[in-house]
Formats: sequence, C-alpha cells, structure tokens
Amino acid sequence: MVKLPSLNAQILIAAILGAFLGWLAHGGEHETALYSANLLGTLFIDLLKMVMIPLVFCAIVNGIANLRRHRQINLVWKTTLLFFATTTIIAIVIGLGASHLFKPGAGLHLEMFADAMQQFEAKQLTLPEFFTQFLHGVFMNPFKALAEGNILAIVAFALLLGIALVMASDRYPQLLALFEEGMGVSMQMINWIMRLAPFGIAALLFKLVATQDASLFATLTKFILVVTGTTLLHGLVVLPALLYLLTRKNPLWFLKQARESLLTAFATSSSSATMPVTMRCATKNMHVKPEIAGFVVPLGATVNMDGTALYEAAAALFVAQLAGIELSLGQQLVICLTTMIAAMGAPGIPSAGMVTMVMVLQSVGLPAEAIAILLPIDRLLDTVRTAVNVEGDMIGSLVVQHMTDAHSSS
Ligand code: ASP
Repeated sequence: MVKLPSLNAQILIAAILGAFLGWLAHGGEHETALYSANLLGTLFIDLLKMVMIPLVFCAIVNGIANLRRHRQINLVWKTTLLFFATTTIIAIVIGLGASHLFKPGAGLHLEMFADAMQQFEAKQLTLPEFFTQFLHGVFMNPFKALAEGNILAIVAFALLLGIALVMASDRYPQLLALFEEGMGVSMQMINWIMRLAPFGIAALLFKLVATQDASLFATLTKFILVVTGTTLLHGLVVLPALLYLLTRKNPLWFLKQARESLLTAFATSSSSATMPVTMRCATKNMHVKPEIAGFVVPLGATVNMDGTALYEAAAALFVAQLAGIELSLGQQLVICLTTMIAAMGAPGIPSAGMVTMVMVLQSVGLPAEAIAILLPIDRLLDTVRTAVNVEGDMIGSLVVQHMTDAHSSS
C-alpha cells in the first residue's frame, strides 16, 4: 500500500497546490470549480466551528479546575496576561514604526479614492460606546451565548463556572468529570475533521487567489508590502525570539509543530474557527498540558491578536498620511491605546479588525470612511495577520507552561 505523507506535509502541499491552481484560474470563467471550492471550504470551516463551541467551554472549565487544584492559577493567569499585553504592545510599536519609516501613504491622497468612499458609510462607534458594547457582551445567558457562538461570553461563563466548581472542593465530581470527558471527546472529533483539512485549505486558498480583485492593488502595493512584511517580521522573528529567550525552545521546532494551525488560520482568516486546531497543535504536537492550553488558547483566540494590533496601528498612520494629517505624539499614544482595546475586542472572524478599526480612526479624528479603501484588500491581509494571531496563542501557552514548570520545580 502507498504510504501517504504525514498530515502536516499533506496540508502544506495542499495549500501550495490550492494557491497555484487559484492563480491559474484567476480571471477565467470557472464557475463549477469555484462553486465546489466554496462548498468544500465552507464545510471545513463549519465543521471546525461546530466543535469549537463545546471545546472552548469544556477546555476552560476543565483547565481552571485542574489549575486551581494544583494551586497554579495565579501564576498562570498573570503570566498569560503579561505575555499577551507585552506582545501586543510590541506589535503596535512595530506597526507604527514601519509606517513612519516607509511612509506607505506618501504620494497618495484621500481624494484619489473618492469613488470608493462615496458609497461607504462607516458605522460610527466612539470609544465609550465601544467599551459599553464590549462589556455588555461579556456576561449573558450562557445558553444564548452558546447558541450564538459568542466566544467572549462563553469564555467568561466558563471561567466563573470553573472557579465555582473548584471552590466547592470536590462536591461535584460528576460535573467535573463531564467537562473533562467533553474535552477528550471534542479532541477526538477534531482528529477526524483534520483529515479533511488538506482539502478544505486547498479549496479556501483556491477561491481566495482565483477571486482576488486586483484593481486597487497597484495603488496600494506599498501599504500591502509594509503591512505583510512587518507582520511576518513579528511572526517569524519577534515571537520566535521571545519563545527562544523565555523557554529555550527551538523556533524551527515550534514552526513545524504549529504548521497545521498556522495554515488553517491563513486559509480561514478566523482565529475562532482555527481554535480547535490550535488546541490540537498545542496539546498534541507541543505537549502543553491540557489545563494550560485549555486556559491560554481559548482566551488568546478572543483577546490576543498581535497581527490585528499591528495592522490597525499601521493602517491608522497610513490613513493619516492619505489625509495629509501629521499626528502628534499624544495622538499616537491614543492610537496605541485604542488599538490595544480594538484588537482585544475584535472577534476572531474574517475582517473583524476592519470593524474595530473605525474606532481607532475616530479616536484621533481621522476619517472613518477611509476604511472603504482598505476593505477590498482586507481578505488578503487578513490571512497573514490571523496566522500571527494564533501563533501568539501557541507561543503564549508554551511560555506559560515553561514558567509554571520552572516555578513548581524551584
Ligand atoms: N481575522 C482575524 C482573526 O480571526 C481578526 C481580524 O480581522 O483582524 O484573528
């Protein structure tokens, strides 16, 4: 019997093949192929989303319960938040720095895009409104949250439930066992779904490349290059360097173990849909303990988005350059802050960053309609930034595991 290459290799080959075929098909009439690719790609995303909800819920409750039992909860949540905040700030600084250095908006003016902006009305959302909306979405009826797939609210409820179960010190062993088994069985389903991953990823990349609208590309090439280049710098240099410095783990080993998740994020542009795969990579390939991965990964998928933060900071400066506005240092600090909140509040779905971007622009009085220029190229930029978003979650889980291990052995 012919021996197939490993799943990891199959996914890589499929991604390259899908993108290549999409390139060949670009601009032609290939309705049946596009229809099939769309069907297959959507099916893959739907399957991931299906298992993602029970997995997030069970993983967090279970993670909290186990962590508290081992008295590590404090160290874990503090290290997690510190790591998320530090890497997000580094990403924002890189985004702002690159826009200053390369001035991607130089030579372009807002008026050049008047047509695109005319049909576009940005939904006004001020910072206080955004904050209220964000907070309002955190606590809600858990059944509603589960049914709507509202991850932020699911995470919040699962955290509380996990704490409550452990505080009750072993009074509800069956419930705890239920969540533990729920997590195990969800991981089993993910193993099945991953067999479809090479096909799903090839289909998604085929469709992406074949249907990409090239008209705005020429004008925005510099911006696209600056954003993609700096996002890659963050993902391939900064985050791996942090991983090495903090845990001494080889970055190449990491990238190899993380490949399934990085490619799934690249193809789906959704960190939420990729979450089950990220969890699988962290626990199965990188041997992060389920209780640590169960806490860091779902939380990271909702609040830790380095790629999005970098993008929003760079894009805000780009829009300022288009509008011919020189931003003061104070205004740039405001951008840093709102970008951080915006990246935290952006749900892990395609182009979510575009919605929260409006708030960043408005915080310093930049024209929010300008995102109409960025929308047509967003599907493309969203690929790399989502991959970097999920990369941060996996590195976070490795760092947290390393810190807690070091602490318990000292
Ligand atoms: N698509 C990104 C994600 O799911 C969010 C964004 O639009 O920046 O992580």
